[in-house]
Amino acid sequence: MIPTLTAPVHWRQIDLLSDLHLGADTPGTLARLERYLAETPAQAVLLLGDIFEVWVGDDARHEPFEASVVRLLYEASRRLDLFFMHGNRDFLVGAELLADAGMPLLPDPTVLDAFGQRWLLVHGDAQCLADAAYQAFRSKVRSTEWQAQVLAQPLDARRALGRQMREGSRAAQAAQLMATDLDAGACRALLAEAGAATLIHGHTHRPAEHALGDGLKRVVLSDWDFDGTPVRGDVIRLSAAGLQRLPL
Ligand code: MN
Repeated sequence: MIPTLTAPVHWRQIDLLSDLHLGADTPGTLARLERYLAETPAQAVLLLGDIFEVWVGDDARHEPFEASVVRLLYEASRRLDLFFMHGNRDFLVGAELLADAGMPLLPDPTVLDAFGQRWLLVHGDAQCLADAAYQAFRSKVRSTEWQAQVLAQPLDARRALGRQMREGSRAAQAAQLMATDLDAGACRALLAEAGAATLIHGHTHRPAEHALGDGLKRVVLSDWDFDGTPVRGDVIRLSAAGLQRLPL
């Protein structure tokens, strides 16, 4: 049974974004998020994973960079309804960070019931079935045993582990991300289970709209990068008028 988030009537516009990969070394992207949160007319903002480049445990939330993000999110959460879904980089985000940032957890997958439609929301990594090695890694790191074992290590050790996992090779990771995509059969099956026609996700960093047959489709968010050139990033806005992609 896929959990459902029912939009309250005062949500006239709902924004979806993902894959900001926030880190201390990308201040431009954090600044763009700050400006976006200040300017958006939406009543709800749903963060669909990989908001952080890496998250090694909620005790890191008091470090200078992480604390600045928490403050920004908390301030935004006082004006609008924020929700957070785990990505494959920030799956260790836990209850303490969520509470401090004022954002409830959105399970992956979630059905959003809004404007008379059902929208299926996922991060996207769980549907990349062709990458068997990644799926094995995913089930390991999503297990409570593995997480408890890792979280028992000192913060410095976890930071080193996070760096190691990421630096394994950025080039190899980028190539892997390009080589894998969501499995169309898995997406169709999940949409059928959800009773939804549209799947919205991030993860692949390949913004597009794909027809899945029988009127089903999947809509892919862009990642954000406001530190390099050209800059990129987008938001998908849902309203009574339907789905709209807004480049930033
Ligand atoms: Mn991802």
